[in-house]
Amino acid sequence: MTLVISHVTKRFGQMVALDDISLSIDSGEFICFLGPSGCGKTTLLRVIAGLEQVEQGSVLFEGRDLAEIPARKRNFGVVFQSYSLFPNMSAARNVGYGLECHGWPRAEIDARVQEMLRVVALSEHARKLPSQLSGGQQQRVALARALATNPRMLLLDEPLSALDAKVRKNLRIEIRELQRRLGITTIMVTHDQEEALAMADRIVVIEAGRIVQVGNAHQLYERPASRFVAEFIGRMNVLPVSAAAGKILLAGYPVGCEERTAGEAPRLIGIRPENVCVVTEEATDANGAIPARIRSTVYLGNIAEIVLSVGKGHEQEIVAEVPGHALRAISEAPSIAVRLPADAVKVLE
Ligand code: ATP
Repeated sequence: MTLVISHVTKRFGQMVALDDISLSIDSGEFICFLGPSGCGKTTLLRVIAGLEQVEQGSVLFEGRDLAEIPARKRNFGVVFQSYSLFPNMSAARNVGYGLECHGWPRAEIDARVQEMLRVVALSEHARKLPSQLSGGQQQRVALARALATNPRMLLLDEPLSALDAKVRKNLRIEIRELQRRLGITTIMVTHDQEEALAMADRIVVIEAGRIVQVGNAHQLYERPASRFVAEFIGRMNVLPVSAAAGKILLAGYPVGCEERTAGEAPRLIGIRPENVCVVTEEATDANGAIPARIRSTVYLGNIAEIVLSVGKGHEQEIVAEVPGHALRAISEAPSIAVRLPADAVKVLE
């Protein structure tokens, strides 16, 4: 393990920003800290960077307690959301600034700057000032600057959130490829679940200062540990159920589910919209479907979203996602029903 965080607690006055955080990160991993605004993810990154002190717990990097190493001696590359480039310096000078501070000889600085600008595909823009670069280019300069000193770890705090959607998606891929190529252990803070799913080897989901789940994209999506994770990563219909005669009932209709806990009867189940099957037939006892009525539809080209109400009194709302081309037949059908495949129905806490 490269980085071992043990029982870290951080308070701001009465506010507990980090509550007994423990986490180990392997060399070369790309980790995302994911969570809603104010959950503590930036504070945790700042603790690792050495910009915040902790009251309790420890952070070890390659076996050494980071409390003994001041921030500037850690040699971690840091990139923030705002590009924080020096506005009066060229791209090249910005990239070389850290090396100047470390007293590198001029010729070596120039060679390294050229190399780093090549790595982020900005060689042609070396002489431009930040104001003459696009947001995406500025963020690539910031990345080159962070990598120039050959850092032992890369810490990224929402580096893409100020960029527009298309640039953000491209830069996601670029950063991930660069990280793989360099093999550098990287931690990125984001509140964007799609970004985390797309980039991370492992995602650390944080809620109110606590780690609620750690796993790869697949694990978090398929096996969310709680309702919070289920709703935060992707979308989930969260549906109240009742139990009668050993069956789970949704709006009065029996549904199967993947995992039946032996003890208490479940009270909430979850199913992702893409797993709700909308069928153009009448629900009968024999086909095990639940009668449904369309409340609204949104056509998005490749897919369509349908908000349905299900049950005898049509009291329960449920969102389904169907292929775009299927919407017409569903909308025009005299009666429709939904089927919830048991292996896609999760029991939620
Ligand atoms: P965001 O995505 O909005 O940046 P975050 O998950 O990164 O949120 P943090 O910035 O880590 O959240 O903040 C966690 C909590 O600690 C918040 O409630 C915040 O208000 C509080 N906090 C952070 N820094 C300070 C500080 N210097 N002084 C007082 N409170 C702080």
